[in-house]
Amino acid sequence: MSRRVLVVGAGLVGLGLAHGLHIRGAEVTVAERAPELSEVGWAITLSDLHRNALDRLGYPPSLWQREPMGYEYIFDAHTSLPVNTFEFGPTVMLERSLLQMRLLDPVRDLVRTGTAPVSVEDDAPVVGVRFDDGTTGEYDAVIGTDGVHSWIRRNALGGPAPLDIGCAVIRFRVPNRIGVTFAARTTPIQGSRLGYFLNDGGETLHCMLFINDPAGRHHDTPLSTLAERFAGLQGPLGHVVEAMRSEPDRLCVDIKQVTTSVWARGRVAIAGDAAHAMSPALGQGAGAGFEDAAVLSDLLTAPGLPVEHALAGYEQIRRPAVHDLQYRSFNAARELVLDEKP
Ligand SMILES: Cc1cc2nc3c(=O)[nH]c(=O)nc-3n(C[C@H](O)[C@H](O)[C@H](O)COP(=O)(O)OP(=O)(O)OC[C@H]3O[C@@H](n4cnc5c(N)ncnc54)[C@H](O)[C@@H]3O)c2cc1C
Repeated sequence: MSRRVLVVGAGLVGLGLAHGLHIRGAEVTVAERAPELSEVGWAITLSDLHRNALDRLGYPPSLWQREPMGYEYIFDAHTSLPVNTFEFGPTVMLERSLLQMRLLDPVRDLVRTGTAPVSVEDDAPVVGVRFDDGTTGEYDAVIGTDGVHSWIRRNALGGPAPLDIGCAVIRFRVPNRIGVTFAARTTPIQGSRLGYFLNDGGETLHCMLFINDPAGRHHDTPLSTLAERFAGLQGPLGHVVEAMRSEPDRLCVDIKQVTTSVWARGRVAIAGDAAHAMSPALGQGAGAGFEDAAVLSDLLTAPGLPVEHALAGYEQIRRPAVHDLQYRSFNAARELVLDEKP
């Protein structure tokens, strides 16, 4: 008999996991708290490892075929001099909404929106779940992919709340009117760093401003005020600074990190940001979640492997690897914005 798996949360990782399990014969239900699945904008980078994980989840590489991001130039924020280059390797960038919709398409019928668990009881051999709409269900396994504030992590596994790591990232888009052909970023200045990637085939500059300040500080700070930190910058990044003065739409996110020592207990586990939200400084969060989902899909459907062993093995395999990635992302976030000059 196929295993019944409840996936809690239809974000990028929950959708990928649902498909990975579904194509391996599991009976999957996805409970999503939001009343509907809305497309989330902005771009996302995927390394070759992440695309391999998506391939294992049943999404072929042809879905994400893009020109590799190539390289970026690093400009001294004080002098505007180009001082270094950085190679992105085979990483590609795509619209986040496109990624989300492609993940959703084959599992749309498995998703129950407007539904969240209110109790999860692991009564071996099944997990009993009560939902906020009054319905109940019995499952062989419950996987929380319910994001950084995960209800499953905190309530079913007794895990911690996320930590604020004292950095924020502001994203905005600028039309590439100057026809620049490469990505660029500044060295840090006044605890901040400005950069952009080329997007939409080079038509748009997808800009990111990392700021080393406590949570909430910059949600309402006008971009024109922040632009003053980079006043005098010349070249392509000077164009971005100029564009900041006209207040393009922006998204400000305080960076949170989740570090928890329990990823799985019995028949309940967490994956993606629920298990390991990390700084986006290295662009690895979703990709690491897809790798979680690929391992979970294999192990939860492995013939004869008890669910408890599958989930304990998943934690054993993934937690150390992600811990290292989280550490590097945390350091990258701090280094990106540490001022190198007094
Ligand atoms: C600015 C920024 C840039 C980033 N750039 C990159 C990048 O370039 N590359 C990369 O790999 N990663 C990147 N990341 C990280 C990436 O966005 C996340 O790691 C990824 O979206 C996590 O996916 P998830 O499915 O685990 O969680 P989420 O996307 O947060 O999804 C969680 C889902 O669970 C639902 N939910 C929440 N609570 C409940 C509940 N109680 N019951 C039911 N449903 C619930 C939510 O509504 C949501 O749909 C970036 C992050 C940020 C903030």
